[in-house]
Amino acid sequence: QVRVRFAPSPTGSTHIGTARTALFNWLYARKTGGTLVLRIEDTDKERNTEAALQELLNGLKWLGLNWDEGPEVGGDFGPYFQSQRGDIYQDYLKKLQDAGRAYEKDGAIYFKLEGERYTEYDDYHKAEVEKVRTEPVVIEDVIRGNVTRREERDFVIVRSNGDPSFHFVNVVDDIAMGITHVLRGEDHLPNTSKHVELFKAFGVKPPVYAHMSMILKDPAHGKGKMSKRDKGALIEEYQQRDFLPEAVVNFIALLGWAPKDDQEVLSVDELIERFDIADLQKAGARFDEKKMSHINFEHMKRLPIERYLPPAVSALGKAGLVNDETDQEYLRKVLELCQQKINSFEDLPSFSAYFFTDDYSVDPKVEKKLLKRKDAAERIQEVIPVLENLESFDAITLERGIQALADEKDLKIFAWFPLLRFAVSGVGGGPDLLPMLETLGQETVVSRLKKLSA
Ligand code: GLU
Repeated sequence: QVRVRFAPSPTGSTHIGTARTALFNWLYARKTGGTLVLRIEDTDKERNTEAALQELLNGLKWLGLNWDEGPEVGGDFGPYFQSQRGDIYQDYLKKLQDAGRAYEKDGAIYFKLEGERYTEYDDYHKAEVEKVRTEPVVIEDVIRGNVTRREERDFVIVRSNGDPSFHFVNVVDDIAMGITHVLRGEDHLPNTSKHVELFKAFGVKPPVYAHMSMILKDPAHGKGKMSKRDKGALIEEYQQRDFLPEAVVNFIALLGWAPKDDQEVLSVDELIERFDIADLQKAGARFDEKKMSHINFEHMKRLPIERYLPPAVSALGKAGLVNDETDQEYLRKVLELCQQKINSFEDLPSFSAYFFTDDYSVDPKVEKKLLKRKDAAERIQEVIPVLENLESFDAITLERGIQALADEKDLKIFAWFPLLRFAVSGVGGGPDLLPMLETLGQETVVSRLKKLSA
């Protein structure tokens, strides 16, 4: 039975790397029918805040990453907050003390390594320090193969203020909670040899490790590790910008993992089906803002209109383009047209403003290019009566009408299309023209054409 855990320390906003750790553990649990434990590593009283915890839980729920044991749901291995597990740590400390593997020094309690002791001048500490000739520790890592490291100094397990250290509680909880696999960031690799020493001291086989590679900055924004300040680094940002959670999950899953066939757009079910820790990648994972938008767009296009409408209407509402009085049928038609064209809810208001107001902005480049055409004024003049006299204003009738005009003038229908688009929307791109004209309606289309030709 696979038991994995996500063990965040809620000290600030939720970083995309934290969400990825949660996601990969979640995918592995769902894939294997195992259990995902959410354990809150809140031993650092000064740095852990209730606000950060709430933001974290909220972000996980938004992404759809539910946990089987932990805060709010309970479970047989609780409490799930390290701050409430003091008694358990005392018991485990006693085990080490009884086995002669812990000692006090300067008010703190140290874990005692096994091996021959000697002293050596240490450049970093600028002092003689006691070292231990230990057996090397072999970390069996799914991504990195066997990593061999040697611990050579005893380390603190209880600080002088009485707080147990990260290394100690992390291992005690993995033991007490029966954790079988540890998937966490590569930044923890230097800690893992300490952890394996502790597992050995407790006589427990260490879990299977997978240390995931770091997330690197989008090359467009510099080099090195992605930081909390980089665009796209915080989960909250995606929530605020109305990204689709399933798109964010899809995108995060591709940071350091890829399905064998390299398919990029995957539903959550497809991710569960294809995910395997054996396919996690060793190289750093490059954040790619363009790919994020593309994946979001692909998910938005596939969304049933019922799910597309609420965030879309809310984005338009925030921009003051629609309100409770807006005709619902019209709104739905407009959004059906936009859904296939626009890759974020964020861009929707500027993309669709002309459907809701006559006060939309005009692209001066398009204007210049189209209206400098010698025949522009003439084309607009002659199409107005045609459109004005159509007995019905649906896409098919519209096409027929313009086609008839084109035949009469011995021109192609495309002599009018860009002009018509610009006349009614002020831009050079957008939804398919004929359905767009149909949706705007005869009155609006004709009046905008007249305005342009005036
Ligand atoms: N609390 C640690 C962190 O936030 C957990 C490390 C681990 O997963 O073991 O990085």
